[in-house]
Amino acid sequence: MTFYLKQLEVGMIQNFNYLIGCSETKECGVVDAAFEVDRILSMAKKDGMKITTALFTHTHYDHIDGIGELTKRANIGKIYVHKNEAKALSEFKEKVTEIDDGSLIPIGNISLKVLHTPGHLPGCVCYLGDNFVVTGDTLFTGAIGRCDFPESNPKDMYRSLQKLKELPDDTRVYPGHDYGASITSTIGEEKKTNPYLMISSEENFLRM
Ligand SMILES: [Zn+2]
Repeated sequence: MTFYLKQLEVGMIQNFNYLIGCSETKECGVVDAAFEVDRILSMAKKDGMKITTALFTHTHYDHIDGIGELTKRANIGKIYVHKNEAKALSEFKEKVTEIDDGSLIPIGNISLKVLHTPGHLPGCVCYLGDNFVVTGDTLFTGAIGRCDFPESNPKDMYRSLQKLKELPDDTRVYPGHDYGASITSTIGEEKKTNPYLMISSEENFLRM
């Protein structure tokens, strides 16, 4: 079982997309296809990978806007989104699988585990792979996602961050935006340097 993983920065607000798949069967999924679908498709093609799956960390427009084009231009069999936000993708209902904490997503011979991490939005998830985690707008390098949307919940965000802190220190972090000092990091590094992960009580977090 060997993971294939590519990081790609797209769009005007520094979104990261990820191609994640199986090096053996050459199947892969796209995380958060919104912009520059062309570039996603050509990267997969260049690597000899076939895109079969679309996964979403949450349903803000800058994470889902490319799904229409992606389903037209690639043979997408399955679309994964958290059950709290499946409504945003109702147009693609036949392909959508609603996920929740602990769900497993098979792609070729690999599988990704879903961590429900609400806070930024109620249906935010992270995708846990082989020693890496794709964190969407929950955790950036040195920062976290905004909690001031009407649907946001700072208390949930605090709990979600505690959940991420429980992952092994060497777990590689792949964020949803290029907003930090580096394009990737590790849980251990974030625990030492990210001010939002260094707060030890919910009370102080909410104050911040
Ligand atoms: Zn967002």
